[in-house]
Order: sequence, then C-alpha cells, then structure tokens
Amino acid sequence: MRILTTGGAGFIGSALVRYLVSEVGAEVLNLDKLTYAGNLASLEPVKGANNYSFIQADICDRDAVVSAINGFKPDHIMHLAAESHVDRSITGAGEFVQTNVIGTFTMLEAARHYWNGLQGDEKANFRFLHVSTDEVYGSLGETGLFEEVTPYDPSSPYSASKAASDHLAKAWHRTYGLPVIVSNCSNNYGPYHFPEKLIPLNILNALEGKALTVYGDGSNIRDWLYVEDHARALHLIASKGRLGETYNVGGRNERKNIDVVHRICALMDEMNPKGAPHDRLITFVTDRPGHDHRYAIDATKLETELGWKARENFDTGIEKTVRWYLDNEQWWRPLRGGVYTGERLGVLSEK
Ligand code: NAD
Repeated sequence: MRILTTGGAGFIGSALVRYLVSEVGAEVLNLDKLTYAGNLASLEPVKGANNYSFIQADICDRDAVVSAINGFKPDHIMHLAAESHVDRSITGAGEFVQTNVIGTFTMLEAARHYWNGLQGDEKANFRFLHVSTDEVYGSLGETGLFEEVTPYDPSSPYSASKAASDHLAKAWHRTYGLPVIVSNCSNNYGPYHFPEKLIPLNILNALEGKALTVYGDGSNIRDWLYVEDHARALHLIASKGRLGETYNVGGRNERKNIDVVHRICALMDEMNPKGAPHDRLITFVTDRPGHDHRYAIDATKLETELGWKARENFDTGIEKTVRWYLDNEQWWRPLRGGVYTGERLGVLSEK
C-alpha cells in the first residue's frame, strides 16, 4: 500500500505517518511545506525507515503536487495539510483561505488527473481522504451531538475555510466521480502537539510557573480525542470507508475547558510537586469573538460500520500527554519562542 500524506509534519499528520510507517507497514510519502506548525522532529521515530520519504512542497503549488503524485503513484492520498489555529485565522484569514481552500482545490485537481489516468484495480482501489474538523458544524447548545447530516454553520475564518474545502471535496466526488471520503473530527490532544494550543500550552506554562489563561469563564465544552486514536480512525476510513461518505470521529469525552485545565493542574501537582498548587496560576481572559460554546461528536457510524473505538479515555490520555511533555523537553523547547501571542493573552485555541 502506497500512501501520500499531506501535512504529515504537523500534529495529527505526524501521528498518522508514525502509525502508517511503523504499525501498518505502508509505503509513505509525506508532502509538507514545513510552515511554523510543521516539525520534522515529530517524525524522528520514522526517520531512516525504508518505507518513509519526505518532500518539502506547498499544496498550492500545482506543479510540485502533480510531480509528487505522478512520481510516487499512490494508492491513497490522505490530505491533512492546513492552517489550523483558530486565533491566527482571526488576525490573518488570507493564509487560511489560500492553504485550506486553494490548496485543497489543487490537491483534488491533481488527484483527479492522476486517477483518470489509472486503469483496472489501481483505479478502482484509489482513495482520496479529506481530513476535516467538527468545527464546520458550528456550535451546539447544552444538548445534542454533531452527526454526519448536521448542516454546516462555521463561525471562524478557520472553520469557514475548512467547510469550503469539505464542499470542494464532496463536489469532486459528485461531479467527477473522484473516490473521495471526508472525515470530521473533534479536538485532538496528545504528544507532539504544537505548544500554542490549550493543552500543551497550559502544561508548559504550569511547568514554568506562568499564567494558565482560560477564555471567558472556561465553560466552553470540547470533545477530546487522543491523537493516536484519530490516526487509527483515518487509516480505517481511508481503507474501508464508503466512497462519497462522511465519517465523524470523536472520543465521547466532553469536557469544559476549565475542567481540562484543572485536570492538568492536578496532574502537574503530582508529577511536579515543587510548583504546586498549579491552579493558583489560572487566569481568565476576555473571550474570543465567535467562540463556539460546545462541540460533541456522534461517532456511531464509524463505530458500527467500521468497528472503530477510541482506546484512550480522557483520563488516561491526558495523563500520558502530561508525562510526555515532561519527558520530552528537547522536542518542545525550541518551539516555545514561535508560539502565537496575538492580541489576547495566551493563545487558547483548543485544537
Ligand atoms: P497542524 O497545524 O499541526 O499541522 C498542519 C501541517 O500542514 C503542518 O505540518 C504544516 O507544515 C502543513 N502545511 C500547512 N500549510 C501547508 C501548505 N500550504 N502546503 C503543505 N503543507 C502545509 O494541524 P493538525 O492539528 O495536525 O491538523 C491536521 C488536519 O486535521 C487539518 O486539516 C485540520 O483541519 C484537521 N483537524 C485538526 C484537529 C485538531 O484538533 N488539531 C481536529 C480535527 C481536524
């Protein structure tokens, strides 16, 4: 199995590449521009593996994408490259429209021309998995879950650009017959998460005795999924999912942001007692404009059709994650300077 990934130097992409190379044994070509969010250090575990290769390229660069696809001849393309930080999208939406919309268009067109030229089983087995977010569905009230049929209602420039890219992917299936599948996932967390996002930022701020900033009153709810569970789901969806379908991915682990931060503090109190009690560092800041109240995923389709189930619950996953950051300073230390600070204190995008 030959798989071309885009964005494989990012948080989820690197977990996927590590899984595909080390556990699935697939032949992987990872195409990534290496923006601030791309980090080859996250791929150290597969560096040198003879079933892994890397190419630095922009998904908006048609010639580079066409030549990578035609040269590698993938069975599957798994498209993850994106600008992904909600706060950055509020102050600089142009980059999000360029990468997430134009970049996805470029990938779809290159995949379509490549697929048109395939024959027989190669053509029948080709898949294009477009990886997206539950944020395209907008915000939930206190009850209900996002289902695959929930209407799109994005709130931020990030989620609007991802919604646009999802529509393009689905249109390329309906109009051109390209074998596309779309996945929409809830908030991921785990090792190698860029330290500008809520969970790693607050772990590292707690470690360094800095403010643990929380938007509003901390009552926003996210549905957390351990990144390695997402990687397994993506491989399963690409391999066994039905063409033209959408699969929601989520771990049924809803938590209020403030409860996530308290849990991090409690774990840090145990693992780094000299800074205890860490919850004295919690600081509430003015809420982000358009901050969705609640996300929660109904993953029944993925669970029943494809037999996927999250292995980590939030308590086991967050403990592993805090431990990983404490044990892997060499990975995160060089990234701390590049963290987004924006206009608001602290950088609280949960994703
Ligand atoms: P990330 O920001 O950590 O990584 C993005 C990767 O894409 C980086 O390696 C970056 O270098 C690369 N990239 C950016 N622009 C590029 C371009 N123009 N050409 C080539 N490569 C480019 O993102 P992530 O959190 O790993 O998310 C990966 C995908 O999963 C995204 O499509 C995102 O929308 C989606 N997603 C993320 C979450 C989450 O919780 N993080 C949840 C659901 C879905």
